[in-house]
Amino acid sequence: MHGSGQDAILELQTFYRPLRDRWCYLLGEFVKIGCQCGATISDATDYIAHKAHLTPDQEIYGVWDGVDGEVIDRVASGELTVKDAYMVSRRIMSSPTRTMWQCFECGRLYIDGPDGELHCFVPENDETEKRILRARDSK
Ligand SMILES: [Zn+2]
Repeated sequence: MHGSGQDAILELQTFYRPLRDRWCYLLGEFVKIGCQCGATISDATDYIAHKAHLTPDQEIYGVWDGVDGEVIDRVASGELTVKDAYMVSRRIMSSPTRTMWQCFECGRLYIDGPDGELHCFVPENDETEKRILRARDSK
């Protein structure tokens, strides 16, 4: 409905819960979320198709400015080594990000909120994409 002036606001049900005490738990360093549908969302490796890193629009311009000023300009002036630039740029890019996961079984989205709580968003219906966070098809 973009451009129609009648864009509907999609209201998703949000569940608030104390972080990682009811649905989510840590297993060693790995996060597992016990989805409300009964499935388990595991976060035990890298390159996960059901996980994404969210950077708020309110922060992305600061990230780009930070990479420009704290990394590129400083490397160009010789103030920062290329080796140090790798870590500084990763720190800048990851600092405002929060994590989100999707249950492949039911499509619920779990997003770490700015309040430190894990929020669950329920798909509108059974046709809702259950693999929306993937970059590409994977195993
Ligand atoms: Zn689920």
